[in-house]
Amino acid sequence: MKIKVLDTTLRDGEQTPGVSLTTKEKFRIATQLDEIGIDFIEAGSAITSEGERKSIKEITKQGFNAEILSFSRPLKGDIDYCLECDVDAVNLVVPTSELHIHDKLNKTPDELIDLSNNAIDYCKDHGLTIELSAEDASRSDVDFLKSVYVEAIDHGADRLCVCDTVGILTPDSSYDLFTKLSDLKAPISCHCHNDFGLAVANTLSAIKGGAVEIHTTINGIGERAGNTSFEESVVSIDRLLPDFSTDIKINQIYNVSKLVARLTGVYIQPNKAIVGENAFSHESGIHSDGIIKNSATYEPMTPELVGRTRKFIIGKHMGTHGLNSRLEELGLQVNEIQLQQICDDVKELADKGKTVTDVDLEIIADNVLAIDHEDRIRLDEVTIVSGNKVMPTASVKITIDDEQILNAGVGLGPVDASINAIKSIDIFRDVDLIEYHVDSITGGTDAFIDVIIKLQKGEKVVSARGTEPDIINASVKAYIAGVNRLLRE
Ligand code: MN
Repeated sequence: MKIKVLDTTLRDGEQTPGVSLTTKEKFRIATQLDEIGIDFIEAGSAITSEGERKSIKEITKQGFNAEILSFSRPLKGDIDYCLECDVDAVNLVVPTSELHIHDKLNKTPDELIDLSNNAIDYCKDHGLTIELSAEDASRSDVDFLKSVYVEAIDHGADRLCVCDTVGILTPDSSYDLFTKLSDLKAPISCHCHNDFGLAVANTLSAIKGGAVEIHTTINGIGERAGNTSFEESVVSIDRLLPDFSTDIKINQIYNVSKLVARLTGVYIQPNKAIVGENAFSHESGIHSDGIIKNSATYEPMTPELVGRTRKFIIGKHMGTHGLNSRLEELGLQVNEIQLQQICDDVKELADKGKTVTDVDLEIIADNVLAIDHEDRIRLDEVTIVSGNKVMPTASVKITIDDEQILNAGVGLGPVDASINAIKSIDIFRDVDLIEYHVDSITGGTDAFIDVIIKLQKGEKVVSARGTEPDIINASVKAYIAGVNRLLRE
C-alpha cells in the first residue's frame, strides 16, 4: 500500500519559534522537497503577509510535480488569498473540539458545520482541491468529528485529515481513532505533533489504522516540540512496515535535512535518528569490530541508504580494529605492535577528558612511527585590531614552502578576521571550514581555550585542535594544523 506524504516544513515548520524564511530560502527548500518525491507541499499560509504570498507564488509558478497547498481557515478572505497565489489545493483547517469551537471561536457545533460546508462550496466553485483538516480532532467527540467529515465529503472535500494538534495521542489511541474513521468515503491523513515524543509512533499507528497520507516536517521542526519528522517516519515505513511504502527517494534524505537545518538555524541534536551526527558513528571497540566484519551487527540499516557514510570516532572506547580503519583512511600503515601503542596513547589522551581529533591521532601515530613530517605551512605572526569602534582586522604572516606571505582580512570578530586573512591566500581557497567549536578548559577568563574545527577539501574531511590561552591563536593554530593535514594527502 502506497502512503502519500504531505510536507509542511514551509508552513507548520516555519511556525517554529524564531524561524522565518525568505522567499529565496523557501523556494530552495520547495525545490528539494519536490526533487525528493514529496506528494504534497504545504507552501505557507496565504493570508499571513505579502511576503508569504510572494513565496507561495514563486513556488506555484514552477510547475513542480508535487501538489502545492496553502493553509486556509474556512473564511472567504483566506481562500481568496489562496486563489491569488494560484495554489492547486487548500489545507482547509476547521476546529472540531468543543474547546476550540466554543472557547476559541465562540460558535455552536452547527454553526461550525455551516462554516465548513460554505468554505468547501466556495473552494469547489473556484476549482481548488480540498484537504479538510479537523483541528484538535484527537480531543473531539468522535461522532461529531465524523459528522463534520461526512458533510465535508458531501460538499466535495477530496481528502480528510485528523490533526493531533497538541500531540496527546498514543500509538494505541491513534490506531483506535483511525480505525473508527476508516469507513469514511475519502482518503484520510494524519497530522501529529511531538509534545510527548510520540509523533512518529502515532503516525505509524495511524497508517496501520487506515491513514493513507501523513503530514511531516523535515527534521521534525514545528511549534513547541515540533511535528512528525519526515526522515524518521519515511525511513520507518520503508524499513519497519513491510506492507507499506512511499515514493520518497530515501538516499537524498540527509541532504534535505542538512539544507533545512542550515536555512532555519534549527540544528539537529547529535543523537537524532537517521540524520543526527551520531546516527551512524561508532566509537566502542566491540561495536566497531562487529561493524567491520558485518555492518548488520550494530546497524539496523546502512548509512548509504539515507545518503550518509559511517564514521568511527576516535576515543577511549575504541578498539584496535576501528582505530586501524581510521588510520588507513588517513593513509597510515601500521603493524600490530605500533597499532597497540597508538591505541594506548589515544586512550591516555581521551582519559584526560579530551576529544581526540584526526590531527591528534596523526601526531600520536607520527611519534610511534617516528615519522618526521615537514609541514608546508607555518604561522609566523598574527596581529589583531579589535574593539567596540573598529572593524575587527587581522594581519597574518605565514610561510608556505619557504616563501613568506603577508595578508590581511576583516571579519565580524577577531577570530573571523584572522581566519579570513588566511583564507584569502591561494593555497587555502578550496578548503572549507565546516565546523568550529570552542570550549574553555578551566573556569576563569585566563582559561585555556580548546578550539576544535573540521575542515573539508574536496571529499576529505579532517578535524584539528588548537589549545592556547588566547582564542585567536588557538583558532589559527587549529586551522593551519588542519590544512597541513589536508595538504599531506
Ligand atoms: Mn500543526
